[in-house]
Amino acid sequence: MSTTIPLPAHAWPVLEPGWVWLCGAGPGDPGLLTLHAVNALRQADVVIYDALVQEAILAWAPQAEHIYAGKRGGKPSAKQRDISLRLVDLARAGKRVLRLKGGDPFVFGRGGEEAQTLVQHNIPVRIIPGISAGIGGLAYAGIPVTHRDVNQSVTFVTGHDQSGNTPSSLDWASISKGSQVLVIYMGMKHIAQISQSLIDAGRSISEPVAVVTTATTNDQQVLETTLGSIVDDIAQAGLAPPAIICVGQSVLMRQVLDWQGMAAGEAPRNLDPLGRGRPAETA
Ligand code: SAH
Repeated sequence: MSTTIPLPAHAWPVLEPGWVWLCGAGPGDPGLLTLHAVNALRQADVVIYDALVQEAILAWAPQAEHIYAGKRGGKPSAKQRDISLRLVDLARAGKRVLRLKGGDPFVFGRGGEEAQTLVQHNIPVRIIPGISAGIGGLAYAGIPVTHRDVNQSVTFVTGHDQSGNTPSSLDWASISKGSQVLVIYMGMKHIAQISQSLIDAGRSISEPVAVVTTATTNDQQVLETTLGSIVDDIAQAGLAPPAIICVGQSVLMRQVLDWQGMAAGEAPRNLDPLGRGRPAETA
């Protein structure tokens, strides 16, 4: 890779013909690509990408063939097995293959399944992690996924499974009781059912919730609401997936940490939204 970035040569691995690199593209903003991702984009002969990968990111691989393998919202437009076998075929044809997935490839991205198929077919693989939407997307909304005054744990859940239904293995009552902060991927379709399950299990209807759509892109929208109002508020705001839904007190931190709003000239709404009455760093 030609670069002015002062890193030793071994920091830039070579994408050899016949290899597949399974790489996270981050949540959208090209600036959130890792250096390994850029290095991969520069070398690939073919990039197989998902629906959530932005055009601006593919532009980093002008020399490569771009193949869309998108799937959205439980409506598979390309079968998972077909995608995996396509990767195998391309690698066997001697291509330098970059499999590019939104966010992190191993977070609700079926990256594990694809990598497993490749290994089963003796295709050498490299995994390049990415910034997951449930962390980076919230950060762009000014919401820290952990915050010492709020949570010592965080639960990442998916709102639906491969069939498009809410995952039957999820015990919402236990999640509700055991999770200080929930970060829900793919939660829009079943948000009525999910929010009701959480309320039924004891979460307050006034619990803060944020919905962040197309996070980190120029189209990012953030809705601040509560568990009791989320369904109506999503409808009223006309929000559509992809969205990350965060449930918990950390959402309140946006009142002081909405850095994009502040960059646009807005004043912070509340310097101490958790009511601790002291600068956090003095404790
Ligand atoms: N591997 C991805 C997640 C894939 S599942 C990751 O680590 O981020 C797809 C879901 O991710 C979407 O339905 C949505 O819930 C979430 N998502 C991905 N990109 C997003 C973005 N830019 N803004 C909001 N949500 C996003």
